[in-house]
Amino acid sequence: MAIEQLLILIKPDGVKKSLTGNILTKLSEARMVIIGAKAVKVSKELAEQHYYHLKDKPFFGELVDYIQGKVYGEPWDRVLAFVYQGEDAIARMRKIAGATNPEEADPISIRGAYGRITTKGVYENVVHCSSDPKEAEREIKLWFKPEEIVNKIYPTKEVTVTNK
Ligand code: GDP
Repeated sequence: MAIEQLLILIKPDGVKKSLTGNILTKLSEARMVIIGAKAVKVSKELAEQHYYHLKDKPFFGELVDYIQGKVYGEPWDRVLAFVYQGEDAIARMRKIAGATNPEEADPISIRGAYGRITTKGVYENVVHCSSDPKEAEREIKLWFKPEEIVNKIYPTKEVTVTNK
């Protein structure tokens, strides 16, 4: 099993609903290490770069507004960004995050428990979770400066988490 790093975002709906603690508790079940963490007020440019692979979708404009927290306004128009590291981290964290569509997500996953589809059809699914190692590397470089990551080398050596 490979040691992987990935980007997790608590999206503005998660911040507004005060779900940060619940989300981090659920993610902690995977026993990964947090190697970067910060609050980010997302610019349009960053939002568009993050979701570049969806630029041709009809919901792209709403998606860019959503990740910027435009519908929520101050003080909820921000995301909390984390870089996690651990064994087989991407698949394991995506399982905890749940399916993209919150109505199809496992009810005990983060998206299944806390997500919703708005009346305008926006998937308010509370978290972002990198989908594969290549995307994870791209996203981490997009959201974090090298000096903001505790382990600066990508990929990093194995880390063992214990409860001692
Ligand atoms: P993810 O990796 O599970 O987040 O899925 P994607 O990268 O495919 O999509 C990114 C985000 O776009 C999702 O988390 C949703 O917020 C949104 N999204 C994806 N598919 C749809 C869709 O069919 N309709 C709407 N309204 N939003 C979508």
